[in-house]
Amino acid sequence: MAEGSAAARREELIALYRRLRDCHTCPLAARRTKLVFGSGNADADLMFVGEAPGFHEDQQGVPFVGRAGKLLDGLLAEIGMTRADVFVANCLKCRPPNNRDPLPEEIEECTPHLLRQVELIEPRVICTLGNFATKLLSGSPQGITKVHGRPQNREVAGRAVRLYPLFHPAAALRTPAVQAALREDFIELPALLGEPLPAPVEAPPMAPDVAEPPNESLRREGDPKPDALRKPVGAAPQLGLFG
Ligand code: URA
Repeated sequence: MAEGSAAARREELIALYRRLRDCHTCPLAARRTKLVFGSGNADADLMFVGEAPGFHEDQQGVPFVGRAGKLLDGLLAEIGMTRADVFVANCLKCRPPNNRDPLPEEIEECTPHLLRQVELIEPRVICTLGNFATKLLSGSPQGITKVHGRPQNREVAGRAVRLYPLFHPAAALRTPAVQAALREDFIELPALLGEPLPAPVEAPPMAPDVAEPPNESLRREGDPKPDALRKPVGAAPQLGLFG
């Protein structure tokens, strides 16, 4: 359970990052360029959880820095927020080869790290981006098409949170209707952040069946496109963004 002042929790988060930088628990570690721990405000009310790093994220060590990340930045700007206001992380901290879907054993290995991040950051609202994060943190097999834009009262890492499933920005880049739905759902976020957390919580998250129907599976960006690269923020981007 978390613990202490925002400053103490931030220090603990940085310590977790330092430990995970050397993590070789699963085979993904051998192929990564950089571990993608997550970045942003270590005491954020709003946290985003994606699936896994893609090519650009693996290169830079920062989540959502490719085209999907630019869309995320734009949507945040539309509601008057920046990355410095929120914390962005993924279910997996290392890139799966060729951007394949995460395997159940990879999710199982990496989930405790995500839950520890939630414990330490203490977000009120967690936006799950796409199917993997949504199924993992909701503990329900219901796919994103059914549940997007509907806040759920959940217990995540022992904390009551509003879980707010959203379409993944990469899916929104491919399909204009999905992008419109993502934008509509996003617009509700400021109001959601202002709501009190309801007391009762539902079932704790459990590992989902990660087999996805093909039309709901996600692809991250695979091919390097230098013009899509964003500059890392500071010398140690993962730490530099912590507010
Ligand atoms: N897609 C994700 O799910 N996470 C990232 O960090 C980038 C793309």
